[in-house]
Amino acid sequence: MLPDKAIVTIDGPSGAGKSTISRGLAARLGYTYLDTGAMYRAVGLSLERQGVALDRDEETLARRLAAVELRLAPNEGADVQVFLNGEDVSTAIRTPEMGMVASRVSAHPLVRRTLTELQRRLGAPGRIVAEGRDMGTVVFPGAEFKFYLDAAAEVRARRRCEQLRAQGQPVAYEEILAQIVKRDRDDSARALAPLKPAADAVIIDSSGLDIAGVIGAMMENIARQREGKT
Ligand code: C5P
Repeated sequence: MLPDKAIVTIDGPSGAGKSTISRGLAARLGYTYLDTGAMYRAVGLSLERQGVALDRDEETLARRLAAVELRLAPNEGADVQVFLNGEDVSTAIRTPEMGMVASRVSAHPLVRRTLTELQRRLGAPGRIVAEGRDMGTVVFPGAEFKFYLDAAAEVRARRRCEQLRAQGQPVAYEEILAQIVKRDRDDSARALAPLKPAADAVIIDSSGLDIAGVIGAMMENIARQREGKT
């Protein structure tokens, strides 16, 4: 048995398989899956639609952010459904372009503060697998189990292409690879909550592992850590 309020964090660069792995691990543990990338994407979409530039004054930005109402609904075996002020934007936010938009808005202090607070509120009851870039370092530094999922950029680009093509989005490998490399660089170099493993995270390289292999390694690790504590 896991502690009642345990939080598991999974951080890592784009395309490392975090979403699929987090969803699978949450299902194995009977936990809720928190997709924080989807939240940054939805906020990016909302600001873009509202025509709000990020260099607007704080007051305007705060007002526009306050008008963003986000709801995440688990979706058995598929990506979490995301509702923006009641509208289902699940498909609209999951394009490579919205990934770049999310990366830009996520470097803004007010956007980060707003979403960090919301994520902590959603995570407060525990029993969650939280996925993102700063889950183990900033949002849930006290999480019981922390993982950092990595893979070579080429492997991640190939997987992302397959995933997008399966969804009917025609994409070019070179373009996806370039976007992944840029997003990693921007996410790692930003001043606030940069992408990096927490000091106490277990680092898993998924380049040579399939989904079941990664989830199995995480379950084993959780079991081992628990034995060490009892
Ligand atoms: O994980 P996903 O690709 O959906 O994330 C989109 C972008 O949102 C990332 O490239 C990153 O810039 C940002 N993000 C973040 N912090 C998180 C999750 C996502 O900055 N916890």
